[in-house]
Amino acid sequence: MHFPVAFRHLWLYCHRLETLAWRYSTTGSATVITKGSIFDLKRFAIHDGPGIRTTVFMRGCPLDCWWCHNPESRRPAPSEDVEVGTNCVCRRSRTALADGPVAPEQVIDEMARDIPYYEQSGGGVTFSGGEPLMQFDFLMKMLQLCRGRSIRTAVDTTGYAPTEDLERLIDLVDLFLYDLKIMDDHAHEQHVGVSNRLILDNLKMLATRGARVIIRVPLIPGITDTDPNLDAIIQFVKPLPGVEEISLLTYHRYFRHKVTDPELAAKLAGLQPKTQAEVSAMSQRLEAHGLRVKIGG
Ligand code: SF4
Repeated sequence: MHFPVAFRHLWLYCHRLETLAWRYSTTGSATVITKGSIFDLKRFAIHDGPGIRTTVFMRGCPLDCWWCHNPESRRPAPSEDVEVGTNCVCRRSRTALADGPVAPEQVIDEMARDIPYYEQSGGGVTFSGGEPLMQFDFLMKMLQLCRGRSIRTAVDTTGYAPTEDLERLIDLVDLFLYDLKIMDDHAHEQHVGVSNRLILDNLKMLATRGARVIIRVPLIPGITDTDPNLDAIIQFVKPLPGVEEISLLTYHRYFRHKVTDPELAAKLAGLQPKTQAEVSAMSQRLEAHGLRVKIGG
Protein backbone atom coordinates (compact mmCIF):
# COMPACT_ATOMS: atom_id res chain seq x y z
CA MET A 1 0.00 0.00 0.00
CA HIS A 2 1.39 3.46 -0.91
CA PHE A 3 0.56 6.42 1.25
CA PRO A 4 0.18 9.82 -0.37
CA VAL A 5 2.94 12.32 0.34
CA ALA A 6 0.74 14.26 2.79
CA PHE A 7 0.36 11.17 4.97
CA ARG A 8 4.08 10.47 4.88
CA HIS A 9 4.76 13.99 6.04
CA LEU A 10 2.14 13.66 8.76
CA TRP A 11 3.97 10.56 9.98
CA LEU A 12 7.27 12.45 10.08
CA TYR A 13 5.76 15.40 11.92
CA CYS A 14 4.19 13.03 14.50
CA HIS A 15 7.72 11.84 15.29
CA ARG A 16 8.83 15.43 15.64
CA LEU A 17 5.95 16.13 18.03
CA GLU A 18 7.11 13.20 20.12
CA THR A 19 10.59 14.72 20.26
CA LEU A 20 9.15 18.09 21.25
CA ALA A 21 7.01 16.47 23.96
CA TRP A 22 10.12 14.86 25.42
CA ARG A 23 11.98 18.18 25.42
CA TYR A 24 9.01 19.76 27.18
CA SER A 25 8.91 17.05 29.83
CA THR A 26 12.63 17.42 30.55
CA THR A 27 13.10 21.18 30.24
CA GLY A 28 9.63 22.44 31.19
CA SER A 29 9.57 24.52 28.04
CA ALA A 30 8.61 23.55 24.54
CA THR A 31 9.93 26.88 23.32
CA VAL A 32 13.56 25.81 23.80
CA ILE A 33 13.35 24.37 20.35
CA THR A 34 17.01 24.51 19.49
CA LYS A 35 17.96 22.07 22.22
CA GLY A 36 18.17 18.51 21.07
CA SER A 37 18.89 14.96 21.98
CA ILE A 38 21.90 12.87 21.05
CA PHE A 39 22.78 9.36 22.13
CA ASP A 40 26.51 9.44 21.58
CA LEU A 41 29.58 11.18 20.20
CA LYS A 42 32.35 9.24 18.53
CA ARG A 43 35.69 11.00 18.32
CA PHE A 44 38.41 9.98 15.86
CA ALA A 45 35.89 8.25 13.59
CA ILE A 46 37.37 7.17 10.27
CA HIS A 47 34.39 5.46 8.64
CA ASP A 48 31.85 8.27 8.54
CA GLY A 49 33.29 10.44 5.77
CA PRO A 50 36.77 11.62 4.77
CA GLY A 51 39.61 12.16 7.24
CA ILE A 52 39.37 12.13 11.00
CA ARG A 53 35.91 13.03 12.20
CA THR A 54 33.66 13.34 15.17
CA THR A 55 30.35 11.60 14.62
CA VAL A 56 27.32 12.92 16.47
CA PHE A 57 24.62 10.27 16.84
CA MET A 58 21.25 11.98 17.11
CA ARG A 59 18.13 10.37 18.49
CA GLY A 60 14.98 9.56 16.54
CA CYS A 61 14.39 7.53 13.39
CA PRO A 62 11.24 7.30 11.25
CA LEU A 63 12.21 3.92 9.79
CA ASP A 64 11.77 0.51 11.31
CA CYS A 65 14.44 -1.77 9.85
CA TRP A 66 14.00 -5.07 11.66
CA TRP A 67 17.78 -5.65 11.66
CA CYS A 68 18.44 -2.26 13.30
CA HIS A 69 21.71 -2.38 15.22
CA ASN A 70 21.10 0.90 17.04
CA PRO A 71 17.69 0.41 18.67
CA GLU A 72 18.63 2.95 21.36
CA SER A 73 18.79 5.64 18.67
CA ARG A 74 15.25 5.28 17.44
CA ARG A 75 13.28 6.85 20.27
CA PRO A 76 13.63 10.58 20.91
CA ALA A 77 14.22 10.06 24.64
CA PRO A 78 16.88 7.97 26.41
CA SER A 79 15.55 4.48 27.01
CA GLU A 80 15.74 2.69 30.36
CA ASP A 81 15.77 -0.77 28.90
CA VAL A 82 18.63 -0.55 26.42
CA GLU A 83 22.27 -0.35 27.30
CA VAL A 84 23.46 2.86 25.66
CA GLY A 85 26.92 3.40 24.23
CA THR A 86 28.27 -0.12 24.49
CA ASN A 87 28.44 -0.80 20.77
CA CYS A 88 31.82 -2.48 20.54
CA VAL A 89 31.93 -2.01 16.76
CA CYS A 90 32.46 1.69 17.12
CA ARG A 91 34.34 1.51 20.44
CA ARG A 92 32.26 4.41 21.64
CA SER A 93 32.29 5.53 25.22
CA ARG A 94 29.16 7.16 26.45
CA THR A 95 29.22 10.93 26.49
CA ALA A 96 27.67 12.97 29.29
CA LEU A 97 25.89 14.95 26.56
CA ALA A 98 23.66 11.92 25.99
CA ASP A 99 21.93 12.32 29.33
CA GLY A 100 19.45 15.05 28.46
CA PRO A 101 18.53 17.86 26.09
CA VAL A 102 21.67 19.68 24.99
CA ALA A 103 22.24 23.04 23.36
CA PRO A 104 23.88 23.03 19.92
CA GLU A 105 26.69 25.18 21.33
CA GLN A 106 27.54 22.47 23.91
CA VAL A 107 27.90 19.85 21.19
CA ILE A 108 29.96 22.06 18.90
CA ASP A 109 32.24 23.19 21.76
CA GLU A 110 32.94 19.52 22.47
CA MET A 111 33.73 18.82 18.82
CA ALA A 112 35.86 21.93 18.42
CA ARG A 113 38.53 20.27 20.62
CA ASP A 114 39.53 18.24 17.58
CA ILE A 115 39.69 21.01 14.98
CA PRO A 116 43.48 20.51 14.50
CA TYR A 117 42.84 16.85 13.60
CA TYR A 118 40.08 17.79 11.16
CA GLU A 119 42.35 20.34 9.49
CA GLN A 120 45.32 18.00 9.17
CA SER A 121 43.30 15.07 7.83
CA GLY A 122 40.63 16.78 5.71
CA GLY A 123 38.05 15.57 8.20
CA GLY A 124 35.26 17.26 10.11
CA VAL A 125 31.99 16.46 11.80
CA THR A 126 29.36 13.92 10.74
CA PHE A 127 25.79 14.12 11.98
CA SER A 128 24.29 10.66 12.06
CA GLY A 129 21.56 8.78 13.89
CA GLY A 130 18.96 7.47 13.89
CA GLU A 131 17.94 10.09 11.40
CA PRO A 132 19.47 13.52 12.08
CA LEU A 133 16.75 15.35 10.15
CA MET A 134 14.22 14.23 12.76
CA GLN A 135 15.58 17.10 14.88
CA PHE A 136 15.77 19.55 12.06
CA ASP A 137 16.09 22.86 13.98
CA PHE A 138 18.77 21.41 16.25
CA LEU A 139 20.66 20.03 13.26
CA MET A 140 20.44 23.33 11.36
CA LYS A 141 21.79 25.25 14.31
CA MET A 142 24.74 22.87 14.73
CA LEU A 143 25.51 23.07 11.01
CA GLN A 144 25.45 26.87 11.15
CA LEU A 145 27.82 26.81 14.13
CA CYS A 146 30.17 24.51 12.23
CA ARG A 147 30.13 26.91 9.27
CA GLY A 148 31.00 29.74 11.64
CA ARG A 149 34.06 27.82 12.81
CA SER A 150 35.03 26.55 9.33
CA ILE A 151 34.43 22.93 10.34
CA ARG A 152 33.57 20.70 7.38
CA THR A 153 30.30 18.79 7.77
CA ALA A 154 28.64 15.60 6.59
CA VAL A 155 25.08 14.43 7.22
CA ASP A 156 24.41 10.70 7.27
CA THR A 157 20.75 10.39 6.33
CA THR A 158 18.12 7.79 5.52
CA GLY A 159 16.67 10.32 3.07
CA TYR A 160 13.25 9.84 4.65
CA ALA A 161 12.59 13.48 5.43
CA PRO A 162 10.55 16.31 3.94
CA THR A 163 12.17 17.39 0.68
CA GLU A 164 12.06 21.06 1.65
CA ASP A 165 14.14 20.27 4.77
CA LEU A 166 16.85 18.59 2.71
CA GLU A 167 16.82 21.49 0.27
CA ARG A 168 17.50 23.90 3.13
CA LEU A 169 20.56 21.86 4.14
CA ILE A 170 22.31 21.85 0.76
CA ASP A 171 24.28 25.05 1.34
CA LEU A 172 25.36 24.05 4.85
CA VAL A 173 26.49 20.48 4.23
CA ASP A 174 29.75 19.54 2.51
CA LEU A 175 28.84 15.91 2.00
CA PHE A 176 25.72 13.76 2.27
CA LEU A 177 26.15 10.11 3.26
CA TYR A 178 22.92 8.74 1.85
CA ASP A 179 21.59 5.32 2.79
CA LEU A 180 20.06 3.18 0.08
CA LYS A 181 18.68 -0.14 1.19
CA ILE A 182 16.07 -1.79 -1.00
CA MET A 183 15.00 -0.63 -4.47
CA ASP A 184 11.80 -2.67 -4.71
CA ASP A 185 9.16 -0.56 -3.03
CA HIS A 186 7.05 -3.42 -1.72
CA ALA A 187 10.09 -5.14 -0.18
CA HIS A 188 11.21 -1.80 1.28
CA GLU A 189 7.87 -1.39 3.04
CA GLN A 190 8.03 -4.95 4.24
CA HIS A 191 11.54 -4.74 5.74
CA VAL A 192 11.94 -1.06 6.57
CA GLY A 193 8.34 -0.12 7.36
CA VAL A 194 7.91 2.68 4.82
CA SER A 195 7.82 3.22 1.06
CA ASN A 196 11.14 4.12 -0.60
CA ARG A 197 9.59 6.69 -2.96
CA LEU A 198 10.38 9.73 -0.87
CA ILE A 199 13.93 8.44 -0.30
CA LEU A 200 14.57 7.98 -4.03
CA ASP A 201 12.98 11.32 -4.93
CA ASN A 202 15.10 13.11 -2.34
CA LEU A 203 18.27 11.42 -3.57
CA LYS A 204 17.55 12.53 -7.12
CA MET A 205 16.90 16.07 -5.90
CA LEU A 206 20.19 16.27 -3.95
CA ALA A 207 22.31 14.69 -6.66
CA THR A 208 20.99 17.03 -9.35
CA ARG A 209 21.09 20.19 -7.22
CA GLY A 210 24.85 20.32 -6.71
CA ALA A 211 25.14 18.37 -3.45
CA ARG A 212 28.06 15.98 -3.00
CA VAL A 213 26.69 12.53 -2.21
CA ILE A 214 28.17 9.21 -1.16
CA ILE A 215 25.66 6.36 -1.24
CA ARG A 216 25.87 3.86 1.62
CA VAL A 217 24.40 0.40 1.10
CA PRO A 218 24.20 -1.75 4.24
CA LEU A 219 24.70 -5.31 3.02
CA ILE A 220 21.93 -7.19 4.82
CA PRO A 221 22.34 -10.84 3.74
CA GLY A 222 19.68 -11.97 1.30
CA ILE A 223 17.82 -8.65 1.51
CA THR A 224 19.92 -5.74 0.27
CA ASP A 225 22.92 -7.65 -1.11
CA THR A 226 21.09 -9.64 -3.79
CA ASP A 227 22.04 -9.31 -7.46
CA PRO A 228 18.63 -7.85 -8.49
CA ASN A 229 18.82 -5.21 -5.75
CA LEU A 230 22.41 -4.26 -6.61
CA ASP A 231 21.50 -4.06 -10.30
CA ALA A 232 18.54 -1.80 -9.50
CA ILE A 233 20.86 0.42 -7.43
CA ILE A 234 23.27 0.63 -10.38
CA GLN A 235 20.47 1.64 -12.77
CA PHE A 236 19.20 4.30 -10.40
CA VAL A 237 22.51 5.79 -9.30
CA LYS A 238 24.47 5.75 -12.56
CA PRO A 239 22.80 8.79 -14.17
CA LEU A 240 22.96 10.92 -11.00
CA PRO A 241 25.68 13.59 -11.38
CA GLY A 242 26.33 14.34 -7.70
CA VAL A 243 27.05 10.76 -6.61
CA GLU A 244 30.79 10.39 -6.01
CA GLU A 245 30.99 6.90 -4.60
CA ILE A 246 29.06 3.92 -3.28
CA SER A 247 30.11 2.48 0.06
CA LEU A 248 29.23 -1.13 0.71
CA LEU A 249 28.79 -1.56 4.46
CA THR A 250 29.37 -5.13 5.47
CA TYR A 251 26.94 -6.76 7.87
CA HIS A 252 28.19 -7.61 11.33
CA ARG A 253 26.69 -9.33 14.31
CA TYR A 254 28.39 -7.50 17.14
CA PHE A 255 25.17 -5.78 18.22
CA ARG A 256 23.20 -8.92 18.92
CA HIS A 257 23.71 -8.67 22.68
CA LYS A 258 21.22 -5.77 22.57
CA VAL A 259 18.41 -7.94 21.23
CA THR A 260 16.14 -9.37 23.92
CA ASP A 261 13.19 -10.55 21.80
CA PRO A 262 13.79 -14.29 21.11
CA GLU A 263 11.88 -14.21 17.82
CA LEU A 264 13.98 -11.32 16.52
CA ALA A 265 17.16 -12.93 17.85
CA ALA A 266 16.36 -16.08 15.85
CA LYS A 267 15.66 -14.04 12.73
CA LEU A 268 18.97 -12.19 13.11
CA ALA A 269 20.80 -15.46 13.71
CA GLY A 270 19.61 -16.55 10.26
CA LEU A 271 21.51 -13.71 8.59
CA GLN A 272 24.81 -15.13 7.41
CA PRO A 273 27.38 -12.38 6.70
CA LYS A 274 28.98 -12.64 3.26
CA THR A 275 32.62 -13.58 2.89
CA GLN A 276 35.23 -11.05 1.86
CA ALA A 277 35.38 -12.64 -1.60
CA GLU A 278 31.61 -12.33 -2.04
CA VAL A 279 31.67 -8.67 -1.03
CA SER A 280 34.55 -8.04 -3.46
CA ALA A 281 32.46 -9.62 -6.22
CA MET A 282 29.61 -7.22 -5.40
CA SER A 283 32.02 -4.32 -5.53
CA GLN A 284 33.27 -5.43 -8.96
CA ARG A 285 29.67 -5.74 -10.19
CA LEU A 286 29.15 -2.04 -9.43
CA GLU A 287 32.59 -0.96 -10.68
CA ALA A 288 31.91 -2.65 -14.03
CA HIS A 289 29.32 0.08 -14.59
CA GLY A 290 31.82 2.86 -13.99
CA LEU A 291 30.82 3.50 -10.38
CA ARG A 292 33.45 4.23 -7.75
CA VAL A 293 33.04 1.74 -4.91
CA LYS A 294 34.48 1.44 -1.44
CA ILE A 295 34.03 -1.48 0.91
CA GLY A 296 33.31 -0.07 4.34
CA GLY A 297 32.27 3.44 5.38
S1 SF4 B 1 17.57 3.62 9.49
FE1 SF4 B 1 19.23 2.96 10.85
S2 SF4 B 1 18.61 3.68 12.90
FE2 SF4 B 1 16.78 3.79 11.58
S3 SF4 B 1 15.72 1.84 11.95
FE3 SF4 B 1 17.03 1.56 10.13
S4 SF4 B 1 18.97 0.72 10.92
FE4 SF4 B 1 17.83 1.59 12.69
